[in-house]
Amino acid sequence: MRDCVFCKIIAGESPAKIVFRDEQVTAFYDIHPVSPVHILITPNRHIASVNQLTEEDEALMGHLFTTAKRIAAQEGVAESGYRLIVNTNAHGGQTVFHLHMHLLGGSRMKYPMG
Ligand code: 5GP
Ligand code: ZN
Repeated sequence: MRDCVFCKIIAGESPAKIVFRDEQVTAFYDIHPVSPVHILITPNRHIASVNQLTEEDEALMGHLFTTAKRIAAQEGVAESGYRLIVNTNAHGGQTVFHLHMHLLGGSRMKYPMG
């Protein structure tokens, strides 16, 4: 999709530190990390947010989670722990409208959320 910053990263048209990629998803470091490990995992296909998901995307969303697990291990935070976040629309704090999962780790997350 034109004018989507994450589509451009996925297409290799914008720079990013890519940590994993396959035919379904791409993962790269967040440009403004809020924790020592802060990676964004995105479907390669443009889906604006969770609100646009359909039943056909269920396997893709499952793959997003297993990719997160794999990257957590790769980054050395699987045992210490990590947080996965998907923001949706204004109240969720979404600023980039290409669905993505944040993987945060390397330090203790604050709680409670919200
Ligand atoms: P959201 O607020 O939509 O859940 O998260 C968007 C995230 O994308 C933010 O954490 C922001 O720092 C990150 N981000 C925005 N633009 C870019 C970019 O061009 N490159 C990278 N690597 N991250 C970006
Ligand atoms: Zn996009």
